[in-house]
Amino acid sequence: LLIYLNGKFVPKDEAKVSVYDHGFLYGDGVFEGIRAYNGRVFKLEEHVDRLYDSAKAIAMNIPITREEMAEIILETLRKNNLKDAYIRPIVSRGIGDLGLDPRKCGKPSVIVIAQGWGAMYGDLYEVGLTGVSVCVRRNAPDALSPNIKSLNYLNNILAKIEANEKGGDEAVFLDQNGFVCEGSGDNIFVVKNDKVLTPYTISNLKGITRATAIELLDEMGYKVIESNLGLFDLYTADEIFVTGTAAESAPVTRLDGRIIGTGKPGPLTMKMVEAFAKITQNSGTP
Ligand code: PLP
Repeated sequence: LLIYLNGKFVPKDEAKVSVYDHGFLYGDGVFEGIRAYNGRVFKLEEHVDRLYDSAKAIAMNIPITREEMAEIILETLRKNNLKDAYIRPIVSRGIGDLGLDPRKCGKPSVIVIAQGWGAMYGDLYEVGLTGVSVCVRRNAPDALSPNIKSLNYLNNILAKIEANEKGGDEAVFLDQNGFVCEGSGDNIFVVKNDKVLTPYTISNLKGITRATAIELLDEMGYKVIESNLGLFDLYTADEIFVTGTAAESAPVTRLDGRIIGTGKPGPLTMKMVEAFAKITQNSGTP
């Protein structure tokens, strides 16, 4: 496996960064998660744009252009002969000293890792995920907005640990006010009385799969309503599903000990899973 590291493709075992890299010392950096299906990269431009937006928000200049970044991503796939893959571009502040000040850092480190990948949840697409609402809160929509896909994923990790401990497949994050935000790595949709609702993106990552789901639902005749949602809305929903690059589109059939709807993936959720499979197989950058 070849990894792109600061201008070169190097074998996996040689792909190493310094302990003085501020990505390692402080989680100072940004990343993306991208999927390729059938040798084509799904929503490449959107992911590259979000990476640069994340970098902009943490006042970091990525030392290559968006076009170069997109080309490196494609080249990483080609070099490794990957067709169905998960791709992880990372840009960290680069090598500095033990102090926080990023002005002491040299150039940001640019890394692209790709590996073979299938659907994340296996059998759970048929039975549905068990969700667990967690104590840890998503970070507030202030300077460190949840819209920054930063290398600081500690609260997401704590959410995952909590969900794991409680026997769940995915966490449900609430914000400081108790409104539902998203999962630890995906966005949330709720179906109730033939209406589809999802939280505003101020409190969660502006998911690229979320945007795709909104488009697909629109084509099916459902105008997705962005709204404040509480756990009550989730417990009493007819259907819940999550969307994300890794999760794709997956049903949630249990949450905090409540059975959601009939306890089986609902009809609209199943239509979404199908529509998503179709669009990922039939689009993307070769
Ligand atoms: N929310 C969080 C916290 C994530 O890390 C991700 C994954 O990238 C998502 C939502 C889903 O976003 P996307 O559909 O762009 O992958």
